[in-house]
Amino acid sequence: MNAALKPVASPHVMNTYGRLPIALSHGRGCRVWDTNGKEYLDGLAGIAVNTLGHAHPKLVPALQDQIAKLIHSSNYYHVPDQERLAQMLVERSGLTNVFFCSTGLEANEAALKLARKYGHDKGIERPEIVVYEKAFHGRSIATLSATGNPKVQAGFGPLVEGFVRVPANDIEALKKATANNPNVVAVFFETIQGEGGINPMRAQYLKDVRALCDERDWLLMIDEVQCGMGRTGKWFAHQWAGIVPDVMPLAKGLGSGVTIGAVVAGPKAANIFQPGNHGTTFGGNPLSMRAGVETIRIMEEEGLLANAERVGAHLRAALDKGLAGVAGVKDIRGQGLMLGIELAKPCGAILQRAADAGLLLSVTADSVIRLVPPLILSTAEADEIAAILVPLVKAFLAE
Ligand SMILES: *Cc1c(COP(=O)(O)O)cnc(C)c1O
Repeated sequence: MNAALKPVASPHVMNTYGRLPIALSHGRGCRVWDTNGKEYLDGLAGIAVNTLGHAHPKLVPALQDQIAKLIHSSNYYHVPDQERLAQMLVERSGLTNVFFCSTGLEANEAALKLARKYGHDKGIERPEIVVYEKAFHGRSIATLSATGNPKVQAGFGPLVEGFVRVPANDIEALKKATANNPNVVAVFFETIQGEGGINPMRAQYLKDVRALCDERDWLLMIDEVQCGMGRTGKWFAHQWAGIVPDVMPLAKGLGSGVTIGAVVAGPKAANIFQPGNHGTTFGGNPLSMRAGVETIRIMEEEGLLANAERVGAHLRAALDKGLAGVAGVKDIRGQGLMLGIELAKPCGAILQRAADAGLLLSVTADSVIRLVPPLILSTAEADEIAAILVPLVKAFLAE
């Protein structure tokens, strides 16, 4: 835990997070208020979750309507909005079939199971999956094993076997690591690593990996849990490279705050699971499905992909300009409304100072300030984020 973050006294909740001493009470658009009435601009969106911001005037009545009708019914019965949301995801991704669950790790866990069964169905008894340095895929034992961060893995061994780890953006390293290995069944990565520090995969690398997967009959599995759902200005970040994966886990922004996960699969992976192979109690429940359907509908009505691209570029330009030539700013990177500012030193202490100044954000990989605001962010709000953040970063780096 970062030394700057003092836990709020909470004797019965497990001590798993370094929390700021703030409790949020309500929100509206890109603003939230804490229980003392202090107002904040939301540069975090609940970690890339609150796509439509807070208390969206079209989402709230739709969810109220759904809650009053049916929250949960179980997958023993058909849930009509599952088919509606699946169709929406299929049309926007170029894939064919969807499995619904409740979280990001659960979507990734399903993807890993799909890859293993894909191998077993081909007679590969000990399938191996290529994963990446600095990757983050979740906190279950399997997704933790796929994650490329020794810090979050420490203390939880033995990890799950069957992973081959490679560095990002190096096609020769991928070929070398998998040479003469007949057990490889899939390649699995985030288009833009989120927790790893906002590290994008290059477009050419994505194309090269797609071609290699086709050549070797591997599944291309792209974790779009954080960078997907419009955040970069396209529905899914890999679409900037013009490629289509075989398997795509989603979660975070898909329900605009309502718990939801999904695995979207194309023809190579869509029929691997048969009845009895996989399931989950909460996945695909009527409330989360309604949230997904309404989120996509409202995003399109309000042109939020274009907004994410335009306002993201505006915010990026304001940060580039404000921090140009500042010693200790190593890099500013990302796409759309998924931006990272890498500093030359650990910067967890920025969180409290930004909050004091009325801005919520996060820090990943120790030294990267992460901005993942709601996709409804306006250019005026982007200017406000930069106006708060730039002087804070300068002062912090001058210490
Ligand atoms: C957050 C995240 C996950 C895990 O999602 P949970 O809902 O926390 O389980 C997996 N992959 C990526 C890329 C993420 O950003």
